[in-house]
Amino acid sequence: MVTRLDAKLFDAMTEITWCAGCGDFAILRALKLALAELGIEPYQALVVSGIGCGSKLPDYMHVNAYLTNHGRPIPVATAAKLANPDLHVIATSGDGDSYGIGGNHFVQSCRRNPDITQIVENNQIYGLTKGQYSPTSEKGFVTTTSPDGAIERAFNPMSVAIAAGATFVSRAFAGEPKHLAGIIAQAIQHRGYALVDVLQPCVTFNRTNTYDWYRQRVYHLEDEGYDPSDREAAWQKAHEWEERIPLGVLYRAEGMPPYEDQVKTLMGGSPVSRLEDLVKDPRPQQYEPLKERFT
Ligand code: SF4
Repeated sequence: MVTRLDAKLFDAMTEITWCAGCGDFAILRALKLALAELGIEPYQALVVSGIGCGSKLPDYMHVNAYLTNHGRPIPVATAAKLANPDLHVIATSGDGDSYGIGGNHFVQSCRRNPDITQIVENNQIYGLTKGQYSPTSEKGFVTTTSPDGAIERAFNPMSVAIAAGATFVSRAFAGEPKHLAGIIAQAIQHRGYALVDVLQPCVTFNRTNTYDWYRQRVYHLEDEGYDPSDREAAWQKAHEWEERIPLGVLYRAEGMPPYEDQVKTLMGGSPVSRLEDLVKDPRPQQYEPLKERFT
């Protein structure tokens, strides 16, 4: 039985430097709520981030945290999960970090299926560096680096994730923190890679995709009797954007074994669980020949 915790357990003393009204506040709140709801204590979770406004998030929580290089939260999160499968590992960063600089890690995770959760703060712009267009910016979006409008079409993370084999693909909105917390909780509970793409208004640099812009378009899949196990239906929903934007779990495949369950060398126990044995029995006979070979 799960014992719910007080979300205040995750509060940190760090001063928050996000702009007033930034959607990242809701994501921070929602992640704390989800962890508390699931009874996950701060020592049982690891939050990994990259570079960008949203990547400051782990610094604002009382939890194990790792702020890594631009675009690299996924490899660090995957490695941590391999080393200690008992940890609940969550990677979080913006659309530029996740889908641009870290785009290949995103795609490979979809097919690799490590048991980690990726929360993408998708504000369709680079906020920290003061407003350049990002992978998810709309074609024609005018920014400092696209004065004539972005030439490329926007990256669609939902369809890419489904096509690449992700087993949990979801979308939420920072303007609805309770719904967002519920989606994050489902993602954390999912055994395998889980994507939560969060529509996160950047109130300072994106004056197009505002809270109102989203409120006029978003709707909840769960209100329409939608079946997230239907991959064909998910593919259709992944392409809805202009008029209506679906929120909720677009696709969920149950029973696919996570990556770490299939790594033979981990079947005798995780590195963390074997630490004590290794300290007691460092097996120098295995290392000496290697040392000789490489020195
Ligand atoms: Fe948030 Fe945008 Fe301000 Fe960054 S620049 S803190 S994304 S509102």
